Amino acid sequence: MDSYKRAYAKVDLDAIKHNLTVTKKSLKKDMKLAAVVKADGYGHGSVPVSLYIEDIVDFFCVATLEEGINLRYHGITKPILILACIPRNSYKESIVFDIRESVFTLEQAEKINEEAKQMGKKAAIHIAIDTGMNRIGFKPTKKSADIIKEINDMENIEIEGVFTHFHSADESDLTSAKEQNLLFTNFLHTLHDMGIYPKIAHASNSAGILNRIGTEFDMVRCGITMYGIAPSNEVNLNGLDYRPALSIYSTVTYIKQINAGECVSYGATFVADKDMRVATISIGYADGYPRDLSNKGYVLIHGVRCNILGKICMDQTIVDVSAVDNAKIGDRVVILGESEGNKITVDELTGDSNTFSYEFICGINKRVPRLYYCKDKYIGKKDYIRDLYTII
Ligand SMILES: *Cc1c(COP(=O)(O)O)cnc(C)c1O
Repeated sequence: MDSYKRAYAKVDLDAIKHNLTVTKKSLKKDMKLAAVVKADGYGHGSVPVSLYIEDIVDFFCVATLEEGINLRYHGITKPILILACIPRNSYKESIVFDIRESVFTLEQAEKINEEAKQMGKKAAIHIAIDTGMNRIGFKPTKKSADIIKEINDMENIEIEGVFTHFHSADESDLTSAKEQNLLFTNFLHTLHDMGIYPKIAHASNSAGILNRIGTEFDMVRCGITMYGIAPSNEVNLNGLDYRPALSIYSTVTYIKQINAGECVSYGATFVADKDMRVATISIGYADGYPRDLSNKGYVLIHGVRCNILGKICMDQTIVDVSAVDNAKIGDRVVILGESEGNKITVDELTGDSNTFSYEFICGINKRVPRLYYCKDKYIGKKDYIRDLYTII
């Protein structure tokens, strides 16, 4: 594993499976579970993650058609839903790969219907309802219901699902999420009254799941919590035992003494007020280590917390190892994860910065290979730079 000493990520696939199992157990018995694996599985690697959990989930959610096709190429057969818009000239391909689109205009439905007809297929779609996020979706109005009726009558379309999305289900004040949920519920009744019965209504994201908002419908969309991270620090994990799946490591490449008055890194934003020992580590913002953590973040070396000194550079960062007597070149550096009884969680690390957990994990760049573990055993890797993907 020497070639990965520079900077690498470990993904504990069992932790992800565990988090989903815990989630499933907390929900009503027949609840369907959609695993949200957009953005390359929140940086964890969508393919190995999806393959490992396919048997315990009902759906996969992605953000682009390409993300969906990639899953199909690697053998995922369960339903896949795209949660965002795709360009018109991609509709055909989405039907070919049996990937569901989120539909929220009549024109979109007409075009999908037309393409499906030419292929002699019936395209399953999910109707997006905008209950307040103002991102995508039909407004829950009578006019929208009439359009949805029109779509429902199209010969080559099946409205398999209907869904909405909460904008603030991760806040301690749940008033708006409850309002959104009520709007959605009422709109479902309107659809039912018109004879439209989508099989799968869904609303909850991770925060909704934890706060029990939208958990009365048929499916939930589980994103951040499947990776073992809380949606925000205002959400009560309700004693659920989530385990972070991602840890990130780097290596000490150089150690030296600096004197009081010397500066560190670009812009000389750190000036030593005493003599100190500093270590250069091989990770930088080009790896996705947010530059906003300059002079704020910290790492663990031999279990000891070492502050970042000065600006994080593109490929390297300098940290204070004055308190780590035995620090030496070649030592492992924990960027995220555990070391000798101490740990760094993504929430702690990003807490008082301008980045946050979701952005941090999605931002881990392709220069950082992902190594996969099951039951503490290494089972394979994804090396984005060499474009190598192996699961033993
Ligand atoms: C990303 C996304 C989710 C997952 O959100 P989490 O907070 O990560 O659980 C669910 N639904 C939609 C529509 C999304 O865009």
